Amino acid sequence: MNPKKLNPGLLWMQFEDVLAPRLGLSVKERAVYSYLLRHSLVVGKLRLQFAVMALARTLGLSIGAARQAVRRLDELGALRVLERSKSGHLAEMRLPEKIRAIRLRKNGASIASGAVGVGAVGAAGEPPAATLETTDFLKTWAVRKAIHDREREACFYCFRRTPANVRCLDHVVPRVRFGRNSYRNLVSCCIECNTRKGDRPAPDFLRTLYRLGRLTPAELDARLRALKDLAAGKLRPALPEKGK
Ligand SMILES: [Zn+2]
Repeated sequence: MNPKKLNPGLLWMQFEDVLAPRLGLSVKERAVYSYLLRHSLVVGKLRLQFAVMALARTLGLSIGAARQAVRRLDELGALRVLERSKSGHLAEMRLPEKIRAIRLRKNGASIASGAVGVGAVGAAGEPPAATLETTDFLKTWAVRKAIHDREREACFYCFRRTPANVRCLDHVVPRVRFGRNSYRNLVSCCIECNTRKGDRPAPDFLRTLYRLGRLTPAELDARLRALKDLAAGKLRPALPEKGK
């Protein structure tokens, strides 16, 4: 990734809508990540040097809390601490697609042998349907990709093409309303739809897209039908296969 080419608006959306919720960042971790991002990728730098004490003072956090937030962000792969010394930390910042890339590389071998996340369940020779129903589709890069692949690089809601940097997974029934991480409740969509839909029911959101002229009447019907098919378990993603 060339940090100079970053689009700050997109970066902000990726952070707020994809990275922070997906990693389950706390308010303090968000503040720390956002501050570090502001002084690195936003100004075209991949790496930055900072002192935890100064960071804590700027953000009004205790030093312990700031240090812990940096540590957790490092564990989650949102940044990587390259050096730690008395003069401070040297860190390299990561973006959502970069984090996925790391996971892909890390799991590369496991994906090849079929032993990704769900593999543990599927390996015992269970029928794929059972595996499908018990799989947490947010859990690993490979299963998240299976949802993206099912939508064939088009937003589930607005049909727009979704290259890897503008797509994300959306809970049709939001998590705040106890929506599950099931393939029946997750769709691949563009970041804009994900943001605009928010916690609204999906059919209402589709009707809004229709009113805005983003969907034709036929497309609206097709999408409403697709929502029903999704909930009924008819839109099955292909799980990463064994031995592939
Ligand atoms: Zn969309």
